[in-house]
Amino acid sequence: MIKTRFAPSPTGFLHVGALRSALYAYLFAKKNGGTFLLRIEDTDRERFVEGAVENMVSALHWSGITIDEGVDMEEGTGLDLSVTNGKIIQKGNNGPYIQSERLEIYKKYIDQLIEQGDAYYCFCTKDRLKEVREYQELNKLPTGYDGHCRDLDVNEAKRRVEAGEEYVVRMKMQKEGITIVEDMVRGKVEFQNQLIDDQVILKADGFPTYHMAVVVDDHEMGITHVIRGEEWLPSTPKHIALYNMLGWELPKFAHLSMLVNEQKQKLSKRHGDVSVEDFKEKGYLPEAMVNFIAFLGWNPGGEKEIFSLSELEKEFDFAKVHKPAAVFNREKLDWYNREYIKGMDTSELLKLCMPFFINAGLLEDVQEKNDTWLMNVIDLEKERASTLMELVDGLSFIFAKKLAYDSELLVWKKSTSEESKERLQLLLEFLQNIEEGDWSKGNLEEVVFSWIKEKGFGNGDILWPMRVSLSGQKNSPGPFEIATVLGKEESLTRIKKAIELI
Ligand code: GLU
Repeated sequence: MIKTRFAPSPTGFLHVGALRSALYAYLFAKKNGGTFLLRIEDTDRERFVEGAVENMVSALHWSGITIDEGVDMEEGTGLDLSVTNGKIIQKGNNGPYIQSERLEIYKKYIDQLIEQGDAYYCFCTKDRLKEVREYQELNKLPTGYDGHCRDLDVNEAKRRVEAGEEYVVRMKMQKEGITIVEDMVRGKVEFQNQLIDDQVILKADGFPTYHMAVVVDDHEMGITHVIRGEEWLPSTPKHIALYNMLGWELPKFAHLSMLVNEQKQKLSKRHGDVSVEDFKEKGYLPEAMVNFIAFLGWNPGGEKEIFSLSELEKEFDFAKVHKPAAVFNREKLDWYNREYIKGMDTSELLKLCMPFFINAGLLEDVQEKNDTWLMNVIDLEKERASTLMELVDGLSFIFAKKLAYDSELLVWKKSTSEESKERLQLLLEFLQNIEEGDWSKGNLEEVVFSWIKEKGFGNGDILWPMRVSLSGQKNSPGPFEIATVLGKEESLTRIKKAIELI
């Protein structure tokens, strides 16, 4: 039975690169009828951030990833834009799934390693380690622990521990030979054992390091495939050594290549949005995000690019995961998001846009406008917007009491301002005669076009100033769509104001 895990450290938000690791682990488990587990790796107490667990679980829920075992949240945040509204729970028979609650378990195995002679107490002070490092750097030697306490007598060391001396525990790395990591993405990767440090496995604060905890947990929780970012590859030989020392079967490893931006830099906060939260708040749809992220470093082959999560669950395959760094191309993400926005029912979209309308304060003065009207408003931008935020921003002119624009904008390029004013006046008179009941897009389009023809105007002579007077914008949806949504009275008011402006 295949079991994968996602094992974030609660240091803040969920990075999109971490979402990809989680997604691939999830997809691989689902593809193979396996289990996906969530574990919280919080052994680094200095980096712990309050609320980070809730934040991460909620980001996973938002993206549609379901957690079979481990840490989860009682109620999903779903489409809610607030983050932490659920209670953290743990489910399954291999818990606890939060490392700070497993200290006894690690202690047992660390003691075992000491007894076996595979680990040792180390009493070196920070100052001493600093000196060693400086010496190594100065002499261009590989940096790392120099083995000072490696051969201390264990009973003597235990006496010092008992006497209250500060200590850590280090693993005793074998110094000859090589370790080969068989990686599902990168093939065989070789490491020289002599360059591998005697890694600290128990820190002075009584917490294990990541290396010890990850090995113990992956083993005890029955993880068959360890799928994570390539930054962990150099740690893997240490993990393999620990598996061997403890006599445990190795899981399979897959190290996913880094995500980079278009300048080939590591995706980091300094260069813009990196957390799932950032994207959610801008109005990226989870379906688009997941589809886009799945394609960062994987491709099923073929032309099809739009995949739902359940389709991805069927298609995902490690044989098609790429080794080179994956470029996080924002334009492509926008393309995905536009596709999903376009493809969504407007009634669904209305629900998703609501928080954005409210945040933008657009609904405050809207009276007697119902959902059907708001859906018509949304339809104006639905085909064009890259994000929900953009969609709502692009519609603010509909709600504006007064449009602020330069009168120059009303002048169609082939005419003068006098001509534009005159034509808008004629248009106004023509529109005034249209019955309220005939104020529909189809009808307006028909009668206005034939009137333009009858008058011998060019389409742009009329439609350009009409559109600008209704929207106040250089680019906007078409004049008939806007006029229909605004209704006769508001449309005529706006055209009158435009006439006064020229
Ligand atoms: N806790 C590690 C992290 O924050 C997990 C690495 C792993 O998956 O082994 O990314």
